[in-house]
Amino acid sequence: MEAQRIDGKAIAAEIKEEVRQKTALLKEKHRIVPGLAFLLVGDNAASKTYVRSKEKACDLCGFHSTTITMPADARESDVLDKIGTWNIDPDIHGILVQLPLPGHIDEDRVIEAISPRKDVDGFHPVTVGKLVIGQETFLPCTPAGIQELLLRSKVDTAGKHVVVVGRSNIVGKPVANILVQKAAGANAVVTIAHSAAEDISRYTRDADILIVATGRVNTVTSDMVKDGVVVIDVGINRVDDATKERGYRIVGDVDFDGLLKKASAITPVPGGVGPMTIAMLMQNTLRSAENSIAP
Ligand code: NDP
Repeated sequence: MEAQRIDGKAIAAEIKEEVRQKTALLKEKHRIVPGLAFLLVGDNAASKTYVRSKEKACDLCGFHSTTITMPADARESDVLDKIGTWNIDPDIHGILVQLPLPGHIDEDRVIEAISPRKDVDGFHPVTVGKLVIGQETFLPCTPAGIQELLLRSKVDTAGKHVVVVGRSNIVGKPVANILVQKAAGANAVVTIAHSAAEDISRYTRDADILIVATGRVNTVTSDMVKDGVVVIDVGINRVDDATKERGYRIVGDVDFDGLLKKASAITPVPGGVGPMTIAMLMQNTLRSAENSIAP
């Protein structure tokens, strides 16, 4: 039987609608409008597209958003000053610095300048530390989106073996740390595999739930998994395709067609994990605004 396709687009739309409704209530009851500030430095086309999509989601959810664009040669101190003003601005509940930054700006210093109370991207070391020790905090958006996809697709993680392929700070490590927590929607036994493994199939073959975030096409093929595995494909890769008008198509990190016959459920690319990231950003920003309600 063919695997169930986990529809990230539909689930993300459902979450944004929930956020929109809660935002309307927050406005009505407390006169608070969630506010999200974006900082773009330089002329990176992909970054501009990402920020535009996030602005659109803010409009849809009824948020207020503001975007500051600085030139590629902006001074690090200007970036830090801007963050400093947003940190104390009561109308701003979330601050997002679009990465990557130009090479002369220290990304770690910039991320650490964001108040953890407004760190809706979930990258500040304080936020990451709280996540690891199981304290309430903003979960980074893509990993949180993966957990939400599993929850809403009724995939139970408790006691299951989750194998994460990839150990980046934005996907692999945080998703592993989220799913290993002794908490609802988690409580999994987690293995992290990465490029130093001699043979990753030794790990993937034992996975009940397999999360792949390598940025490499066909990292996992059907001979590397057991029957009934749930596959979450985080990858976004461009491959040449002369049949497409734009000359390429987007694929994930796994052999989707091969795994479709063996898995019990799988996320497509596009339309799986991708749409969830912005939905979770909206959810984090709403939560930050709710946290600002005076006791
Ligand atoms: P990184 O390049 O930062 O990390 C990739 C990880 O995969 C590294 O830990 C690397 O190992 C490991 N790796 C690479 N090749 C192999 C291999 N053959 N076998 C085992 N491990 C391997 O990527 P990201 O985590 O940032 O992103 C991963 C993918 O997810 C990309 O395609 C990216 O575009 C996509 N992505 C999608 C998002 C979304 O849907 N919203 C958000 C973020 C990312 P090592 O550490 O040893 O180098």
